[in-house]
Amino acid sequence: MRAVTSVAVLSVALVAVAVSSVAAQETPTERTAAAAVIRRMDSLETSLGLPALVARLAKPDARRDAVLARVKALMTQDLLAMSDDITRHPEVGFHEQRSMKLVADYLRAHGFTVDTGVAGLPTAFVAHYTKGTPGPHLGVIVEYDALRGTSRDFHGDQHSAQGPVGLAVAVALSEFLTSSKTPGTVTVYGTPAEEIASPATKTNLQRAHVFDGADVIVRSHSSPATQHLPAGFGSCCMNIDVIRVTYSGAPAHQLEAWNGRDALTAVIELFNHVDALRKNLRPETRLQGIITEGGKAPNVVPDRAAAEFWLRYPDPVYLDEALAMVQDAARAAALATGTKVRIDVDTASRDGISVGALNELAWAQPIPRHRCVSLQLEFREPYLRDGSRRADRRGTQRLHGGRADDGGGLVRLRDRRALPRHRAA
Ligand SMILES: [Zn+2]
Repeated sequence: MRAVTSVAVLSVALVAVAVSSVAAQETPTERTAAAAVIRRMDSLETSLGLPALVARLAKPDARRDAVLARVKALMTQDLLAMSDDITRHPEVGFHEQRSMKLVADYLRAHGFTVDTGVAGLPTAFVAHYTKGTPGPHLGVIVEYDALRGTSRDFHGDQHSAQGPVGLAVAVALSEFLTSSKTPGTVTVYGTPAEEIASPATKTNLQRAHVFDGADVIVRSHSSPATQHLPAGFGSCCMNIDVIRVTYSGAPAHQLEAWNGRDALTAVIELFNHVDALRKNLRPETRLQGIITEGGKAPNVVPDRAAAEFWLRYPDPVYLDEALAMVQDAARAAALATGTKVRIDVDTASRDGISVGALNELAWAQPIPRHRCVSLQLEFREPYLRDGSRRADRRGTQRLHGGRADDGGGLVRLRDRRALPRHRAA
């Protein structure tokens, strides 16, 4: 009888999740793309009994609260300062030597062995807890790369704080495993160059079997607002196609330009075509590009020029359609300018798929009410072209609804209860 009851309850819960999942996809294209995934999510949720698990995990639990208190203490004691340090020393992807050393040294000092240079990447590492025992195996991913700036690099996507947050989690949990003699272990994965997208580091690390053995892998990432995300696609960063377009023309002296074929003009035409496309692209599309090569000298017709675009869309089905439109635009620019075009596409960056019941766990009471802190990082050492820090800090405050301080707007930990609860439809 009890089994029948729980199955019935589970069915109701799953129907609710499935309905909300479908509702997150607005168009027939999105629903088509989502259908197979949502079916898999539903069967996964059924097999894991997630609603019951969520209910159990959300109950009052003194030991869990002690671990969370330890996380917060570690952040306050050392790790906020580490985050500030990394922010003040930004290093872009594949060059994060100093930042990686800070993170790795901290892990070594807290009972982890660290192997650097995994999968042939000098700033990737795997850190194993030395006192781990056979049992559940938690993976924690950390990142530490900065954004590429034109005059200087900077931390604008909060990866400077992400490593320290992951360290607090890994250390607090590893201490708990040992002190409570609970079977299990923790592994921390240092993953470089998240902001570069191509090559997609995590995809390559997975192909190199770096993540093998972990049962669950978590990663934190700050966002401009605390969000309660719907199940399904598009909840994080969307799928990214990296498109590199290279035009080959013919060189000529400026005074005999008719003998040349201008590859830079082709790139400019490409940007014009892409901008013309925008009104026919679905509004969720994100398409931005830069000119990566534009010639060597104004008195020479550039025979080679190149651009790189990042094209993002919540689901991969429509993304393919948008990609085809951009590729046609690239070919049209070549046709119009008498140049040749080469198009390289990297599709290795794909969005995660949000599981409704796990989202509910993140929001389940009493965790948010009592302990769950949402890290809101206010940009430090703000980057503006005119060098104005104050203006940026004002903007940052507006963006994050946070406070600035005289030290340059340092990291704030804020209790979730203080933040508005955004429910996406
Ligand atoms: Zn990021």
